[in-house]
Amino acid sequence: MNTNRPRKFLSLYSLFAGAATLVALLLASSEGYAYNYRTCSGNKIKYNGGWTNMYISTTSFPIGSSWDSRLQNAMWHWNNVKGAGFNFYVGRDTDGTHSSGNGVNEVYFDSSLSGSTLAVTSTRYHCYWFFGYQQGIDETDIGFNSNYSWTTSAYSYSNPSGSPINFEGVALHELGHALGLLHEDRWLATMNAYYPDGGPLGYYKEWDPFGDDRLGVRTLYPDGTTETDIAASPLKWIGTGSSGLVSSPTSATPGSAVTIEFTFSNQSTSTQTFDIGFYLSSDAYISTSDTFLGMNYGSWGSPGFTGTFSRTLTIPSWISPGTYYLGFKVDPNNFTGESVESNNFQQMPRTITIYSPIIAPPPVGILTR
Ligand SMILES: [Zn+2]
Repeated sequence: MNTNRPRKFLSLYSLFAGAATLVALLLASSEGYAYNYRTCSGNKIKYNGGWTNMYISTTSFPIGSSWDSRLQNAMWHWNNVKGAGFNFYVGRDTDGTHSSGNGVNEVYFDSSLSGSTLAVTSTRYHCYWFFGYQQGIDETDIGFNSNYSWTTSAYSYSNPSGSPINFEGVALHELGHALGLLHEDRWLATMNAYYPDGGPLGYYKEWDPFGDDRLGVRTLYPDGTTETDIAASPLKWIGTGSSGLVSSPTSATPGSAVTIEFTFSNQSTSTQTFDIGFYLSSDAYISTSDTFLGMNYGSWGSPGFTGTFSRTLTIPSWISPGTYYLGFKVDPNNFTGESVESNNFQQMPRTITIYSPIIAPPPVGILTR
């Protein structure tokens, strides 16, 4: 099943009727520096109170189930973005029904969505003039297409854009819509229109808004707090919003050169400069105790920057044949105190087999008698 398709996004415009003094109405799409959001005569359309309740359908996502915890985890990750003061709060929708226009934000599985749509966030908002522009989000409902196969397990590198679809990853994306962000297809980002969007970060495969997404929520809901974090990713932007795995070789011989791609995102509220170490490891967990292959000194990124680069490394000649992981770690010597240190290291999303150098077979003896 081809799941590499954009998710449809419904914009349901709701107008407060009966305002006789409605003299002007302007809807404009926003083109921000990177991230996108709606505007009303230049004003940001958002939850004006800086928070909202999301009512989780208990028939779709039973209380205490892995679905429930993945949803709440995705909400927490948006709430946890520093420099932004937005908060999702958890409510329960127990009646098994949902509707747009009831003033309640509902989250549910929807069997009526078409096959090409993974999930839909329906947003009701207002924008009108009444002695000044009045704007804000009124309601956001999130429906996940139950015709797809979903998983609450960890993201799989072996099927990076296919079924089963990672529920937490899509939830993080849809919740980004719910708080007011639109698609941003020019970078590797959670708000990419194409699954797996930005993808998960680091060895632990954590679904966290990327640098650009963080800039977006900070712009909508600034609160002046700060954070410092550089995150590693196994994915890269491959055009038109879609993302794919970084490349790396699957085999090499001792002493040979290999080239890998690597991606990092500056999650911070400020520009960061840091080193990046490259390693060969006997397992997927990349650390400074693995075989050191090289260092990029003085890498840097402005807030919101996410980039993919390549690095050529030499496999040491003394390495024994076997199966290994190439990988990297940002700020390997912990010069930078980060809010999240567990997303700094990333193995390549596939193994590399080191073969013995080809040794010419011994000459065949010719026996004469
Ligand atoms: Zn979307």
